[in-house]
Amino acid sequence: AKKVRHRYVVYTDQLDMALNHRRAMEGALSAAMTTGEGLSCHYQPMVRVSDGRVVGVEALCRWWHPQLGVVPPAQFIPLAEETGLIVRLGEWVLRTACSRIARVPDLFVAVNVSAVQLRDERFDARVLEAAAQAGLPANRLELEITETAIVHAEGAAAAALRRLRAAGVRISLDDFGTGYSSLALLKDLDVDKVKIDRSFVQQAPLADDSAAIVRAVSNLGAALGLCVVAEGVETEAQRRFVRDAGCDELQGYLLSPGVPGDRLDELLDGYPSA
Ligand code: C2E
Ligand code: CA
Ligand code: CA
Ligand code: CA
Repeated sequence: AKKVRHRYVVYTDQLDMALNHRRAMEGALSAAMTTGEGLSCHYQPMVRVSDGRVVGVEALCRWWHPQLGVVPPAQFIPLAEETGLIVRLGEWVLRTACSRIARVPDLFVAVNVSAVQLRDERFDARVLEAAAQAGLPANRLELEITETAIVHAEGAAAAALRRLRAAGVRISLDDFGTGYSSLALLKDLDVDKVKIDRSFVQQAPLADDSAAIVRAVSNLGAALGLCVVAEGVETEAQRRFVRDAGCDELQGYLLSPGVPGDRLDELLDGYPSA
């Protein structure tokens, strides 16, 4: 019994510490959103395979805190989703990214959208208003939504996405292959693009099963008239593979990681312009 009690104490101590840390992080994130301090957007180029031009960028949220340091999105995005802060954070990213990219001719910007944001019944109105206010035409905006989120988008959320598409906004299926949906589902979803998850892209030159998945998604995407994007391209072998598989666009560290907004022009100067 003594042993059990001892373990119990250790357990609650750790739980307390985890909860305190979480609360501290939640408070800090909320404060950062009020002041804007420490929050920024990075932009990662997306390149058209056929001619190597940068056609768009993906906006990636960054958070730096004086005490916590750099907090990775894999930590603060789930926290923001659980606490509902993602609605304000998502809108901040959207407005920041639209304003920055409105100043670059012809480039599109892809913004990540959480399932929680889709539950807001005025989601489509907010998105179109943000783009309009930034002076970014709707057809230069893409929304990246994971397959899990889009499959569960029912009723009002599905209708909001349809209205956005009708207004010219493109919908991109993010991390494709990691959720539970099947290839057959691709034809039923109202999307314009499909992004093959980097786990398949990176394994493709080495493993037959990943190679088959990349080729299958690429072929089906082409047959359905979708733009197929390969994410996480890090090596020349991966680039060649996704090109030969017929992918339309690629993105990854081989070309560039995300860069801050004030370094974007410099980065784009290094590529043939679109
Ligand atoms: P994601 O949407 O799949 O974004 C791509 C992630 O892969 C980014 O990580 C990017 O930096 C990273 N990446 C790009 N190229 C490569 C590569 O060649 N190799 C490897 N290993 N990684 C690569 P990041 O910025 O840490 O973001 C992680 C995730 O956090 C994103 O995954 C997205 O789900 C989420 N996220 C980031 N910003 C936002 C945002 O503004 N809103 C929402 N809702 N989610 C966001
Ligand atoms: Ca994404
Ligand atoms: Ca992704
Ligand atoms: Ca193609």
